Amino acid sequence: MKCPACQSELRRILYESVPVFRCLECHGYLLSEKRLEGIRRSPATGIEQLKREVIQEAQPDTLDSVRCPRCGRKMDKRYIEQPAALHVDVCRECRFVWLDGGELGRLQLTNEMTLKGQESRRFRKRLATMTPEEKAEFERNLEALPDEKAEPSILWSMFFGRRHDWFC
Ligand SMILES: [Zn+2]
Ligand SMILES: [Zn+2]
Repeated sequence: MKCPACQSELRRILYESVPVFRCLECHGYLLSEKRLEGIRRSPATGIEQLKREVIQEAQPDTLDSVRCPRCGRKMDKRYIEQPAALHVDVCRECRFVWLDGGELGRLQLTNEMTLKGQESRRFRKRLATMTPEEKAEFERNLEALPDEKAEPSILWSMFFGRRHDWFC
């Protein structure tokens, strides 16, 4: 199967024991819709590694509709609010989901933070309303994070500045 974003050949790999198709060129992933919900990085992965993934693999969202690599039908755009705010492409027929480069990492990173603090709900909300410029800023801030054991609250204030306005 060919990558729906860049037409390179997709490779079958295991991501945390889950079979997925990966594009080595643009870092996107194709996987079954069902599996997307269960896919979790093992706790050993660490936030540092996830951050690196998100930064290295980040690609712009595919804005035009893409075609399902399996059946060739146009994929539907779908917004996933939980746990991360993402736009993904879904084939209704094959039940395949296409994630642009960096999106699976973002999903995992948000999962991590969800486990660690209640801020995550606001965090997701904030992510959902980001402009492309803010997203770029967000990714730069990720890069600048001092230490992988940073608390979510510290992460939050690094991403978005003031700490107090998210309590009201
Ligand atoms: Zn690709
Ligand atoms: Zn399909």
